[in-house]
Amino acid sequence: MHQYTAPTAALQHKVILITGAGDGIGKEAALTYARYGATVILLGKTTNKLAAVYDEIMAAGGAEPAIVPLDLKGATAKHYHDLAATIQTEFGRLDGILYNAGKLGVLSPFTHIDLDTWQEVMQVNVTSAMLLTQALIPLLSKADNASIIFTSSGVGRKGRALWGPYAVSKFATEGLMQIIADEYDNSGIRVNCINPGATRTNMRARAYPGEDPQTLKSPAQLMWLYLYLMSDDSKGVTGQSLDAQPK
Ligand code: NAP
Repeated sequence: MHQYTAPTAALQHKVILITGAGDGIGKEAALTYARYGATVILLGKTTNKLAAVYDEIMAAGGAEPAIVPLDLKGATAKHYHDLAATIQTEFGRLDGILYNAGKLGVLSPFTHIDLDTWQEVMQVNVTSAMLLTQALIPLLSKADNASIIFTSSGVGRKGRALWGPYAVSKFATEGLMQIIADEYDNSGIRVNCINPGATRTNMRARAYPGEDPQTLKSPAQLMWLYLYLMSDDSKGVTGQSLDAQPK
């Protein structure tokens, strides 16, 4: 599976929702999924970033995307149920979700963790995905082969000093993925995590300001795994946490 090569029409006729689709890894995944034939639903905080991804997909001849400007920090179950109803009306189906939006919060010693930061990171990184999955399960259940991909991190598998809220949110993400995967085992819905590894994005630059970004892999170099888990070639793979930069 390492460095999987997807057939050019791997995602033809699929409708895929991507959170945090305006920047970094999520932007690259949206462009890649569209290039492989998917109709993508671009969810994110900053509308003009989503509009730029929309324009890029249209200019490349992709299927027309949908834009969902939504700040996951303040979104409630009602927003997610409304989104599910809109997807049902507009597309009549949903084949995949990539939970990619993420917030780093503040890196600080444990004793300095501020409750507002803690709750905001949990809300954006974990709670939003839990609520959105609850709202979208009925649509996903209608697809022949549905795929949910969560985004983890190395610090979501082994804790690291100073990474408090973010690391705990990624441990929780791994747990949420395992629970949903187990509940939907032997169904048409598979659920997995990707740990991107160190990747050249704004988030990484904020966490490691002294690092030369050119020493890091670009989001495009990770897309083999994002394509594998979203395509039917990964049918039967569920409950796994996979590395986009395996050692
Ligand atoms: P990024 O460039 O900072 O992009 C994060 C995306 O999430 C942006 O599109 C951002 O939207 C969106 N987002 C943040 N807060 C949001 C909110 N409240 N509501 C809606 N959208 C929100 O980060 P990235 O590096 O691509 O990260 C993508 C995922 O990979 C994250 O889950 C991250 O934890 C994970 N990850 C990254 C690395 C790495 O080295 N880069 C390593 C391990 C894991 P705006 O641009 O509009 O704010």
